[in-house]
Amino acid sequence: MSVSSQLSRIKETINEACEECGRDAENITIIGVTKYVSIDRAKETLAAGVTNLGENRKEEFLEKYEAIGKEAIWHFIGSLQSRKVRDVINEVDYIHSLDRKSLAKEINKRAERIVPCFVQVNISGEESKHGLAPDEVETFIESMANYENIKVVGLMTMAPHEEEEEALRAVFRKLRALRDIIRDKQESHAPCEWLSMGMSNDYRLAIEEGATHIRVGSSLVG
Ligand SMILES: *Cc1c(COP(=O)(O)O)cnc(C)c1O
Repeated sequence: MSVSSQLSRIKETINEACEECGRDAENITIIGVTKYVSIDRAKETLAAGVTNLGENRKEEFLEKYEAIGKEAIWHFIGSLQSRKVRDVINEVDYIHSLDRKSLAKEINKRAERIVPCFVQVNISGEESKHGLAPDEVETFIESMANYENIKVVGLMTMAPHEEEEEALRAVFRKLRALRDIIRDKQESHAPCEWLSMGMSNDYRLAIEEGATHIRVGSSLVG
């Protein structure tokens, strides 16, 4: 199916979810995750009106970036090895996977501007998942004040696969509660207003629980 027809269905779902909880769909950013697909399909995604694109590996990101460039807003959503930071940091617009000091240090050193970052949190505690434990997040974000090229714009999480609705909602709610605590401190290096949560299977629930950025791959470009 074309990206634009799949996008229409996703937008309908977003509108329904927003009506359900009294939010404005304008405040939800759709990040089209193009990691599975070709450069042509990524171009089709952009042409369909999705200007925010997400990639999770350096090599694939750079390939697409070379072909598409600054027409898209680029989100790096995968775990990032410190030694690869210098290859992508001045090309990407946002990092969604800041989860350790060594990475922050490397970003700070290599970036030629202030980089807006989401701090990744492992709410579910699954060992396979990256991210800080919830009780580490506040201290970690406080320490980000030492890195002048990092701005913490929000929190990001990945919910477990194939969970019951209530379990997924609980994950999203916990991330939101953590976001509220940090946002309310009003630190200039960490406005932390945004929530990057929700993927193809659970973005509707994530929106109902406060997501501002959803990361949809298979249901949009697959
Ligand atoms: C692959 C990926 C997505 C998109 O997953 P879908 O289930 O295909 O929508 C979102 N976020 C991250 C971090 C990913 O790696």
